[in-house]
Amino acid sequence: MSNRQPLVAANWKMNGSRESVAALLDGFRQGLPADGVDVLVCAPSIYIPLAADELAGSNIGLGAQTVSEYANGAYTGEISADMLKDYGCRYVIIGHSERRHIFAETNETVANKFCHAREQGLEVILCLGERLEEREAGMTEQVLSEQLEAVIARAGIAAFDGAVIAYEPVWAIGTGLTATPEQAQAAHSFIRLQVARHDDRIADELRILYGGSVKADNAAGLFAMADVDGGLIGGASLKVDDFLAICRAAG
Ligand code: PEP
Repeated sequence: MSNRQPLVAANWKMNGSRESVAALLDGFRQGLPADGVDVLVCAPSIYIPLAADELAGSNIGLGAQTVSEYANGAYTGEISADMLKDYGCRYVIIGHSERRHIFAETNETVANKFCHAREQGLEVILCLGERLEEREAGMTEQVLSEQLEAVIARAGIAAFDGAVIAYEPVWAIGTGLTATPEQAQAAHSFIRLQVARHDDRIADELRILYGGSVKADNAAGLFAMADVDGGLIGGASLKVDDFLAICRAAG
């Protein structure tokens, strides 16, 4: 039986100001449980230097919400893995559904980003998730499998050693609709089994987060499921008390 330490990751998306970033991080630092849960904040890129300063000396990790698939060079507007590392950013979210569906990132782009980030030594949170119409058509497992296998085929299963996956049903993100603990467990267990087909140990040690309208009052039920190892938190991570309550539920 693996002993996976829960992880709660804040995804602030395109929200915040210098003032609110400092206030949120101050609140997180003061209120976080000392142990039992790893906590990480994925800030908008422009606030990463500020967040790095605010988090210095704390055990809260710092992450980005996306990264270029390319190394430094002539890629106007992009931010490289090297640049993130330069500011103490250890984690990056790859393949968030907003990147896939609003910014047209394909499975191939996601796989390239995953590969490049891992090669550059970043810890990756790879997001997978089906849309409502796909769930209603009974295609959830097919979609999850295609999204996952595209990355495994490109990066190799060894690149998942120490990586994190987030199961984020698109219909639950920012909508107030949450997967039931049983729906989340079914998807998480399916993802772990898919990884186990390639490597048992990596599957057993893989942290799989749930994301999609996690709130203070539904977190404990979700985190109690055997294959749910924490959460990726959007809206509720913009409120100190809500985020701290979710971290306590995980710890
Ligand atoms: C997310 O953006 O990853 C997310 C899960 O958002 P929310 O918690 O707001 O649904």
